[in-house]
Amino acid sequence: MPTSTQIVWYKRDLRVGDHRPLAEAADRGPVLPLYVAEPSIAAGDDYRPRHWTLIREALIELRARLANRGQPLVVRCGEMPEVLEGIREQVGPIRLWAHEETGNQLTFERDRRVREWADEHGVPFTEVPSRGVIRGPHDRDNWAEQWEAYMDRPLVYPPDALTPVDGIEPGPLPSHADLGLRPSTAALQQIGEAEAHRTLQSFFQDRGETYRRAMSRPGPATTECSRISVHLAYGTISLRRVVHELRQRQDELRGARGEAATARRKALDSFDSRLHWHSHFTQKLEDAPRIEKESYIPAFDALRADDWDPALYEAWLHGRTGFPMVDACMRRLRATGWLNFRMRAMLCSFAAYDCWLDWRRFAPAYGGLMADYVPGIHYPQVQMQSGTTGINRVRIYNPVKQGREQDPDGTFIRRWVPELSYLETTAYVHAPWKMSPIEQQAAGCVIGEDYPARVVDHNEAYHHAQDTIHEYRQRPEIQAQADVILERHGSRA
Ligand SMILES: Cc1cc2nc3c(=O)[nH]c(=O)nc-3n(C[C@H](O)[C@H](O)[C@H](O)COP(=O)(O)OP(=O)(O)OC[C@H]3O[C@@H](n4cnc5c(N)ncnc54)[C@H](O)[C@@H]3O)c2cc1C
Repeated sequence: MPTSTQIVWYKRDLRVGDHRPLAEAADRGPVLPLYVAEPSIAAGDDYRPRHWTLIREALIELRARLANRGQPLVVRCGEMPEVLEGIREQVGPIRLWAHEETGNQLTFERDRRVREWADEHGVPFTEVPSRGVIRGPHDRDNWAEQWEAYMDRPLVYPPDALTPVDGIEPGPLPSHADLGLRPSTAALQQIGEAEAHRTLQSFFQDRGETYRRAMSRPGPATTECSRISVHLAYGTISLRRVVHELRQRQDELRGARGEAATARRKALDSFDSRLHWHSHFTQKLEDAPRIEKESYIPAFDALRADDWDPALYEAWLHGRTGFPMVDACMRRLRATGWLNFRMRAMLCSFAAYDCWLDWRRFAPAYGGLMADYVPGIHYPQVQMQSGTTGINRVRIYNPVKQGREQDPDGTFIRRWVPELSYLETTAYVHAPWKMSPIEQQAAGCVIGEDYPARVVDHNEAYHHAQDTIHEYRQRPEIQAQADVILERHGSRA
């Protein structure tokens, strides 16, 4: 019987190191590593040109790394079952390997189609767990122990030489146009396996000492946060490898004395928690894929359903709300694809509470702006920051207070909102509407002409949101559903 060709289906795991499907496949025969750029997935309302820019960059390095092992990455543009069919016709019997992916509804359905195709054609298909997320029934009470056990397992490396597959062209890397996308103009972080390791090591060794202090400030957070998210999003490093390197660094610092070492130890502990959150949040979407499109408590879908204001949505999405901190953060996210956690939460809070926009309608576009977009983190976070989980405290950010606290001298706002860059008085940078007409003219920033007037009254919006959500949460049927949500998805920490 001929040996089957082992197809390793790459998705959000664009690496060679710690890649169990690749290692398992290599043990069994000739390996065909495959990435399929799927127009149906790229057509999703959360998919943006920036995502393909990053994936493409990661594929270039992956192809070279695999070529060094004897078999370059094969790339095709099309729909996965048809691509598989074509390859099978060329090479004969195949076996399929992949990591489990907790994606959006489109990838969820695509994965189902691939499984059906494999069943129909008698193709063995093995999916391997990833990111500490558990598929299928599991006990939420000992989830944390299972996470630790998964992360503790040794890293897995493929052999130095792969048995290549004859007669299959690697194929060109599809362009943006091939996927129906415009080119991306965003100034994105570099991505790739080598860059992932550099980023992590520079966080452990050089940056990150003031992580805890800086993480809420959008300016300093840029270099003090780990910036590993884009690598985890596309899998140019495995979460397990990040945890292994973290444990090693924690060990190195264990006996170290002095203020700097203490600060670093604390920073690493905070980082450690966030790596748990990565899986903890993703687990929520894995367990309930419906929460991409539906509130945790379905009754909350009615909360804002009839109140969509397209003008407010556009103002928010393009950073033209008249609230400098909101506009600066949104423009920065649009330009670079990255923002720190606190400011992502503030932007979401502004959309959901101040503009009273339905999260189901703004979440895909918001995710599309994030270079590190991970549906499993994004949707649970958006719902948490929109007050529709029924189990979390309703947190409504005051955008002016956030500006004063997180950008006290206005540097970040001046950088991203050039209309305000000539304002000498920092208090006005945070609240430009407080300038008198004469001051506005002197500063070359007339509110309503050069910079937008505020699109909402924050205090009014705050009270409206608090009262409405409070009223919903008092309803007995919502309280009963909240208990179920807490039992099913709540953290046991
Ligand atoms: C509304 C909203 C949407 C978000 N969408 C995404 C998303 O699509 N993709 C994404 O990676 N992060 C998302 N986050 C979480 C967080 O903002 C980013 O992970 C973080 O800013 C990435 O920068 P970093 O790698 O330097 O983070 P660090 O602070 O250095 O954290 C290290 C890693 O921990 C994980 N992490 C950090 N914070 C969280 C969190 N609150 N929840 C879950 N995991 C976390 C990430 O994988 C991150 O890379 C979202 C947050 C909010 C409020």
